[in-house]
Amino acid sequence: MNEPATHRKVALITGANKGIGRAIAEQLAALGMTVLIGARDPRRGEEAATSVRATGGDARAVTLDVTDPATVEEAAKQVEERFGRLDVLVNNAGITGSGQVSPEEAHDQIPSTVDLDMVRRVFETNVFGVIAVTNALLPLLRKSPAPRIVNVSSAAGSLTIAANPDGPLAGLPTSAAYTPSKTALNALTVQYAQELRGDGILVNTADPGYVDTDINNHRGYLTPAQGAAVVVWLATLTDDGPTAGFFNADGPLPW
Ligand code: NAP
Repeated sequence: MNEPATHRKVALITGANKGIGRAIAEQLAALGMTVLIGARDPRRGEEAATSVRATGGDARAVTLDVTDPATVEEAAKQVEERFGRLDVLVNNAGITGSGQVSPEEAHDQIPSTVDLDMVRRVFETNVFGVIAVTNALLPLLRKSPAPRIVNVSSAAGSLTIAANPDGPLAGLPTSAAYTPSKTALNALTVQYAQELRGDGILVNTADPGYVDTDINNHRGYLTPAQGAAVVVWLATLTDDGPTAGFFNADGPLPW
């Protein structure tokens, strides 16, 4: 049975119990959307939803581990039963594979010595999880008048930036796990965008910048709210907005 709040846009954000995902949820709620806080730990999801509600937003927690097909299926079922559609999907959940180690220090991802199991774990969350969640929610996105999908990537995933020996990331240790997973996510974004172009579903990928969160042990210099802004922009594009694009706060990024 659909809830009466269906006049609000409904947004699902994966990994929204903390960090950038939580800031995205806060900002979309402040714009009047009903936000579904995807969290693999129901308690942490409920805490985040409670804190968004305390600011006057409409938020509820949805248990969702992007690597667990049962929770993905159950989350899609709940969204269908409660709302009958989904307007915005933000694929934000992500891991580095190195724990809370900043990119400058992540020497365990160097290609020639990387642990292949770590690469698999990272791709399971950052790439395969995005396919699982997107495909589970796509039937509900198709029921929205203006569906938007935003994938949270990283400038590190840009092949053009990474291959530039004088570029901004040139001094960082190389990576066979996190960085290629974000390149793959960018590639997936383009493929989904092309498939869905004729259906009015805009699909884009965003680089939030270097943000102060747990993922880098708080080495980032941007606030989660600052990192979230480009994602919120892409989640609220008008129908004539871009699709198959890669953006940061300053505009388009090279692939
Ligand atoms: P964060 O604070 O560590 O948040 C990551 C979120 O993803 C957490 O909610 C975490 O849940 C969730 N998550 C991890 N694995 C999951 C899974 N299997 N299923 C569901 N949720 C899962 O890091 P963040 O900086 O906000 O990162 C958010 C996104 O931004 C990531 O995709 C990251 O790659 C990207 N990004 C971040 C930066 C940066 O500088 N911070 C830069 C570029 C891109 P738990 O709390 O349960 O672990």
